[in-house]
Amino acid sequence: MPITRRGFLRGLGAGSAGLVLSPSLGARNLQASLSGLAPLSRAAGPIQLDRNENPFGPGRHVLEAIQAAFGDASRYPDDPEEALRKAVAASHGVTPESVLLGCGSTETLRVAVMAFCRGDRHLVTAAPTFEEPVRMATALKVPFTEVMVDQSMRLDLDTMARAAGPPPAGLVFCCNPNNPTATAHSATAIRDFVARTHAISPETTVLVDEAYHEFVEDPSYASAIPLVKNDPRLVVSRTFSKVYGLAGFRVGYAIAQPDTITAMRPWRVGNGINLAAAAGAVAAMGAPAHIKEELRKSREARAFTRKFFEGLGYKVEPSETNFLMVNIRRDSKEFKDTCLTKGVMIGRQFPQFKQHSRISIGSMEEMQRATAIFREVLART
Ligand code: PMP
Repeated sequence: MPITRRGFLRGLGAGSAGLVLSPSLGARNLQASLSGLAPLSRAAGPIQLDRNENPFGPGRHVLEAIQAAFGDASRYPDDPEEALRKAVAASHGVTPESVLLGCGSTETLRVAVMAFCRGDRHLVTAAPTFEEPVRMATALKVPFTEVMVDQSMRLDLDTMARAAGPPPAGLVFCCNPNNPTATAHSATAIRDFVARTHAISPETTVLVDEAYHEFVEDPSYASAIPLVKNDPRLVVSRTFSKVYGLAGFRVGYAIAQPDTITAMRPWRVGNGINLAAAAGAVAAMGAPAHIKEELRKSREARAFTRKFFEGLGYKVEPSETNFLMVNIRRDSKEFKDTCLTKGVMIGRQFPQFKQHSRISIGSMEEMQRATAIFREVLART
């Protein structure tokens, strides 16, 4: 019997979601969401506080948009990609030619290294920071300079600017807010940093990674996107993986001047955004009240977690993100491994901060259960 598009779509109820998805926690939550049930308890699996995700997922309106896209699964996603590109452009007041979509912002970071670095055009980055640019530089045999963060775990912007040349760097990677240190720099500091970098090395491109932009509360902070208008050597990256709750769907983007985007485009995978992800991302952008509520929940659970550690006498660094860096005054790898045996996954150890643990913020319920385990593990040693 031939399967019509309408018949296929009709078959896509909550039951069929169960057929196609593995019985992981994420899948069970998706199923529960689609069938209108409350999300299932996560008690069955480990509490995932290791990758700075949104524990609640993207919300029902996004899942419905994703599901509605299934009927076009056999088509290449030119139109959905273009719709997303236009929606992203409109949200930032730029033209679609100023937007490069990527398979997560990871792809846009890789593309920037491929497009702007060479054997004689090094990469400048921080330590610790998000490592993808260094991973790409290493694969391409591009030299790189890592600038240690300062005493208060903030990017050393002066030294990073000076490291841009001579010889001229291909790319300076500036993660603001920074992962894993959770610190954010003010709009003025970033503007001055970009200007200083270009004064030292006019040919160098600066990439400001704003993966955690939405979480920032510091009033002196602002996105670097408005600076793009007057700067052909500035790229700003964003992602749908954090507050938007779409890490599994892999959508991110870069904003830059059209010529800069044109220089980057050949390095990305054409049609690399699948249609369900594109539909989900557009729907996610259309519900700012939902995002506001996600931020409220995240901040509430973060305040709870901070209070827990501070109550036990541990120093918790300031955070403008959905994770905390906690000085647990012992080897953080051992702490992480022990927590894992008790069902809590936390961030890996960073070589520059061997006594700090990076703890992503889950739901309040997850943080209540996780902190009980942290208390037990910390009491032991
Ligand atoms: N930038 C930063 C600072 C990150 O922390 C991450 C992921 N944790 C990324 C980029 C990449 O995320 P994605 O590819 O999911 O957009």
